[in-house]
Amino acid sequence: MPLKIDIDRHDTDILILGSGGAGLFAVLHAQQTAPVGTKITLAVKGLIGKCGCTRMVQGGYNVALGNGDTVERHFMDTIQGGKWLPNQDMAWKLCEQAVVRVRELENEIGCFFDRTPEGQLHQKAFAGQTADRTVHKGDLTGIEIINRLMEQVLSRPVEKLQEHRAIGLIPTRDGASIAGVLFIDMRTGRFRLVRAKCVMMGTGGGPTMYKYHTPSGDKTMDGLAMALRAGLPLRDMEMVQFHPTGLLAGDYTRMTGTVLEEGLRGAGGQLLNASGNRFMFEYDQRGERATRDVVSRGIYAEMRKSNNPEQKGMFISMSHLGPENVRKKFSGMVKRCADSGFDLAAGKVEVVPTAHYFMGGVVVDPDARTAMEGLYVAGEDAGGAHGSNRLGGNGVANSTVYGGVAGDTMGMDMRRTRSLRDPDEEVLAAEVERAMRPFANKPSNIQELRHKLQEAMWEDVGVMRTGDGMRRGLGRIAEIRDELAVAGVDPSSLAFNLTWHDWLNMASLIDISEVITRAALERENSRGAHFREDFPEAGDMNDSYFTVARKAGDELSLSREDVQFTIVRPGETILPEDEPETLVAAQ
Ligand SMILES: Cc1cc2nc3c(=O)[nH]c(=O)nc-3n(C[C@H](O)[C@H](O)[C@H](O)COP(=O)(O)OP(=O)(O)OC[C@H]3O[C@@H](n4cnc5c(N)ncnc54)[C@H](O)[C@@H]3O)c2cc1C
Repeated sequence: MPLKIDIDRHDTDILILGSGGAGLFAVLHAQQTAPVGTKITLAVKGLIGKCGCTRMVQGGYNVALGNGDTVERHFMDTIQGGKWLPNQDMAWKLCEQAVVRVRELENEIGCFFDRTPEGQLHQKAFAGQTADRTVHKGDLTGIEIINRLMEQVLSRPVEKLQEHRAIGLIPTRDGASIAGVLFIDMRTGRFRLVRAKCVMMGTGGGPTMYKYHTPSGDKTMDGLAMALRAGLPLRDMEMVQFHPTGLLAGDYTRMTGTVLEEGLRGAGGQLLNASGNRFMFEYDQRGERATRDVVSRGIYAEMRKSNNPEQKGMFISMSHLGPENVRKKFSGMVKRCADSGFDLAAGKVEVVPTAHYFMGGVVVDPDARTAMEGLYVAGEDAGGAHGSNRLGGNGVANSTVYGGVAGDTMGMDMRRTRSLRDPDEEVLAAEVERAMRPFANKPSNIQELRHKLQEAMWEDVGVMRTGDGMRRGLGRIAEIRDELAVAGVDPSSLAFNLTWHDWLNMASLIDISEVITRAALERENSRGAHFREDFPEAGDMNDSYFTVARKAGDELSLSREDVQFTIVRPGETILPEDEPETLVAAQ
């Protein structure tokens, strides 16, 4: 039976996608900067305050606030952690503006972070950093940030479109500017085009195409898949960050893959193999406090060595720090482990590397502008600030800093953007047709396809990669794409048709999985999160390049661009000569 497709149409001035740290800060800053009377619309796949990963932030927020720490030191750690691939102007702005943003969070938004007995913000150690700079609220920092931001946004005259899933960026006919965004109103199943003068995308990436992963289920790379179809360049797409300590609680629970925070290792947590021996010092002199990529590879290598079918991962142990102390300092983590039958405070917990964060994203400038007039990108959807590796604590700093930056830029740009643009009706019709495809097929099991993709990405494009493995992975992704093309969804009701949304999730994940794999094949060296067993060397830092992926029609192309060392060159530092190498307090 042919389905009748109507599109509701709706106009606004500033349209913001996503209600994580990026989206909510963009709303607040756009409201402060834009001319009086500007209409702002916030559209979210989930519910405001309840979705995305900012809410899930456990460890905390990196900011150089004192005790000898400086913006320069934070910047150098970010560049060295990213193995000289970050866009240095973006990394600088991240570190500099984090200081402003954390004050804003406390003084204007109403967050309360933990304090020292002297009344200073308490800052804890995070792996791979030369100062204790991570501000936090226990180990539930994201809930504090998002709850307070949500209160601010909900109390303002902003249009809220909840359970509205963006499915296409709709350009003008010449393709140079954005005209609006096509959504599915998930509650009714109706299509809705929202035209806007400025659009900010903050849909938060999210590498949920891996067997073990941490991000929230609403994140399925929709933003990057839309940007790819719209012809925007995407950078660093091979850079998937694995967090070393994902909980391993069995195959049939979503608790598997959830993250046990970095602060555990920062506080002195030990990683043990099945024989109860510490092994990380065999891989790095910093032991468990090495960066996430190094620790993930250490755990993965030990997993390969282990021949015990009963034991898949390695173990984290905290008991030597005193069970009472651990219970007090990491109450959220202790409870999470207890829910899955583990005693973090007095026993040991099985862990596995888990896909956590996506460093790749849309190419933007430090003001969050993209190559498409009127389109801005911030947060985990934007590439550049982290290069090949994100430091723990720089994720939420990045989303809140750049969400605010994007809000300010849009507010300013509104002064010169007088009118709404007309959409390319052909692109609009093509996006609707694409979304409706599964209704032409016989209903089938989409979940099975998701498992296949997750296995393929974990096995062939995971923690350690080879050319042969990735070429095999590309073949597996192509097969899954073909299977999705003939997979169907029951059309009897489009309202809250979650199988339809699973189908759309899979379409985004498959598109971006292919880009990750192609970019990983393009990079013939090992940097940060990307490790190739057939090209284990990092290469000369002075010859650093980043990969750029673009799509024209069905053709995906990859190229390399030289990193511009605009602030500091490899081998140099911007820290004064007499600065100590590390300011990390002894544990
Ligand atoms: C378990 C966990 C712990 C973490 N801990 C830390 C930490 O301690 N420190 C740190 O710095 N970082 C941490 N991070 C990373 C951090 O959460 C992210 O870097 C950051 O918060 C991302 O913010 P964002 O605004 O870009 O995206 P998110 O906060 O993920 O928000 C994305 C938003 O986009 C919406 N969306 C998605 N798709 C669509 C669509 N198609 N249409 C409309 N809306 C859409 C989602 O519903 C959501 O509202 C952690 C991440 C996880 C998963």
